[in-house]
Amino acid sequence: MDMADEVSVRLLSDGRFTLPKPFLVYGKYFGETYEAALKPLLIISEGKRILVDTGIGELPEKHARFHQVIRGPGEALEEQLRALDLGPEDIDVVVNTHLHFDHCGKNALFENALFYVQLAELRYAYAPDRFMKNAYIRDFFDVPVKYVPIRGPHRLTKHVHILPTPGHTPGHQSVVVELPDGRKVVYCGDAATLRECLERRNIPGVLWRSDVALRSIDKLRGIENAIYIYSHDREQVRLVLP
Ligand SMILES: [Zn+2]
Repeated sequence: MDMADEVSVRLLSDGRFTLPKPFLVYGKYFGETYEAALKPLLIISEGKRILVDTGIGELPEKHARFHQVIRGPGEALEEQLRALDLGPEDIDVVVNTHLHFDHCGKNALFENALFYVQLAELRYAYAPDRFMKNAYIRDFFDVPVKYVPIRGPHRLTKHVHILPTPGHTPGHQSVVVELPDGRKVVYCGDAATLRECLERRNIPGVLWRSDVALRSIDKLRGIENAIYIYSHDREQVRLVLP
């Protein structure tokens, strides 16, 4: 096989964190707490090492009171990379699906990477609506790394492209990896926090705009031959392809 056609994906972990389950699915699970998986994705395509999302950082006291971070031995993102003989400096590209604190917590580690983020997301992260303020921690994303603000869809390599899926936030995006056999690995991000979001068209509980969020779910549902990765479910924590 031509090296340009080689593509692989590996789901990583950054542990888990607790949150009220209604944050994940709109209008359901009142009173329940969920231990949500944190699952960055490593993609290798055209020799580039691409990381989707960077996990959760050291939470400030104000957040730590509400969210417990749980990590077993070897479950932190840095350790997961080390187990593959990689350091943060080996990552060429980072895609943040969005800049909520549980998706960009370790951005500062990836000094050599170009960070692809929707311009609308960067703008909003600096000046969120009042109801969304707690979800952004400026110290996590306002760090000296190289952001490449993009507008709309973007192709990273022949086999990897970014698909805007707003609604959860204004500049939310998902990532699609086309495998040589025709299947597509679809990293939904928080457009679909749990499996039921796609299977039952249940929008997330944390929302910028509910109507836009539903449209994004339908966009993801329309992808053929898809293997979906939901950002926070605990059912699927291992995936290595091909
Ligand atoms: Zn989010």
